[in-house]
Amino acid sequence: MSDCIFCQIAAKTIPAKMLYEDNNLFVIKDIKPVAPVHVLIIPKQHLSWIDIEKKLPDLPNQVMAVANKLVSQLEIAQSGFRIINNYGPDSGQEIDHIHWHLLGGKRLGPIG
Ligand code: 5GP
Ligand code: ZN
Repeated sequence: MSDCIFCQIAAKTIPAKMLYEDNNLFVIKDIKPVAPVHVLIIPKQHLSWIDIEKKLPDLPNQVMAVANKLVSQLEIAQSGFRIINNYGPDSGQEIDHIHWHLLGGKRLGPIG
């Protein structure tokens, strides 16, 4: 989608430093981090949460595999981390293109 920021980053029409990239996914730092480690794991394909099962059923496994690599790379494998996916108004989701937040590097507060 041409007006989607994550699609534009995926297409490299907007430059961004990618911490990780493969054919399906890329990882960037969040522009407004809420923890010392705050990165976004993003599929290259524009997708909403409700379409995963139909369009990219392997996506959750791919995300977990990338997260597993990242927590070592970012040195939070031992200290701990949180992975969040927001969907819909009650979650405060800002960007419609599905993505997962990986947070760590400090003691995180309670969820909710
Ligand atoms: P959501 O609320 O949709 O789950 O999360 C969207 C996240 O994307 C927010 O944490 C926000 O700070 C981040 N974000 C929004 N625009 C940009 C951008 O242009 N670049 C990067 N790196 N992060 C962004
Ligand atoms: Zn998109």
